Amino acid sequence: MSVLKPNRGRRQIGRLQCNPISYGHWRLANGDDANAEAAYRKTRAALDAGMDMIDTAAVYGFPNFGLAEEIFGQALKANPGLRDEMLLASKGGIIPPTPYDSSKQHLVASCEASLRRLNTDVIDLFYVHRPDWLTPHAEVAEALRLLKDSGKVKEVAVSNYLPSQFDALDALLGGGVLVANQIEFSPKRQDPIWDGALDQCQKHSVTFVAWSPLGGGDLLTQDPSEDSNMGRIAAALDKIAQRQGQTRANVALAWTLISNPNVVSIIGSQQPERIADQARAFDVEMTREEYYQVVVAWRGVRLP
Ligand code: NAP
Repeated sequence: MSVLKPNRGRRQIGRLQCNPISYGHWRLANGDDANAEAAYRKTRAALDAGMDMIDTAAVYGFPNFGLAEEIFGQALKANPGLRDEMLLASKGGIIPPTPYDSSKQHLVASCEASLRRLNTDVIDLFYVHRPDWLTPHAEVAEALRLLKDSGKVKEVAVSNYLPSQFDALDALLGGGVLVANQIEFSPKRQDPIWDGALDQCQKHSVTFVAWSPLGGGDLLTQDPSEDSNMGRIAAALDKIAQRQGQTRANVALAWTLISNPNVVSIIGSQQPERIADQARAFDVEMTREEYYQVVVAWRGVRLP
């Protein structure tokens, strides 16, 4: 019986490379420890565990727009050399309550504001955070080209884009320019397998970046004995975990990485011990049957 394991190999993000598990700052400024010291401790735990892509966005911290970048920028300033330890990713294009603006003017201004808040002179990977269909793809392409040409960003990507939106924008950029699509993906949210998003990344040989691989925590608070799809997903994950002395979180994370060899999954715990432990996801093994049991639990009906 074949045994499946996460691909530990480094992922290519355009001309850059990163670990398959990344650390995200979405929740960094929303607790009662929204300060540079705590931001450093959490990010340090991630870097020490090998997670060398740090994912943030202009909107993180909302209702304190920009606060996640600001406190991390303070941490970067206070810790010389820290910036060089990571591939730094940020995003622009969401401004609540509008909520979306990917106009050239906004994307460029948003990126420049992120650079200032982060106390850095370059963002390694800059994403359009969500599709804004009021802005023609040609204008988004112009903004991304301008940001790359000016050296403010190294690589450009999109997040939450449909495969058709990815194709349209990438074609207008000249083809092969977008280096990733960042989409929600976990045992709780398996849509990318079925809606073409995972295929899209393979078609373009780009990295599929999975956000909220633990279902934003929902998979971990789920009662496995509940008679529901989520209950059955939790039970299927626990069965794999118990056999290997692993946690349900690590099995969920491994499941996302096993789904395709070119996935990067971004975790978001605020607890340094949990961040460190989640690197053990690389050690998780599962059989094909166990992998598909998680899919069947999500679907609620068996696979044909
Ligand atoms: P996640 O890792 O799926 O979920 C993190 C949540 O799970 C935290 O609240 C954490 O709580 C909880 N958790 C972790 N381990 C747990 C355990 N053993 N028991 C109970 N709860 C546990 O990821 P996420 O934070 O939702 O998202 C990760 C990153 O994805 C974000 O930081 C951001 O960078 C990115 N993202 C991108 C988009 C986008 O539109 N592109 C949207 C959302 C997120 P503790 O903190 O207490 O551990």
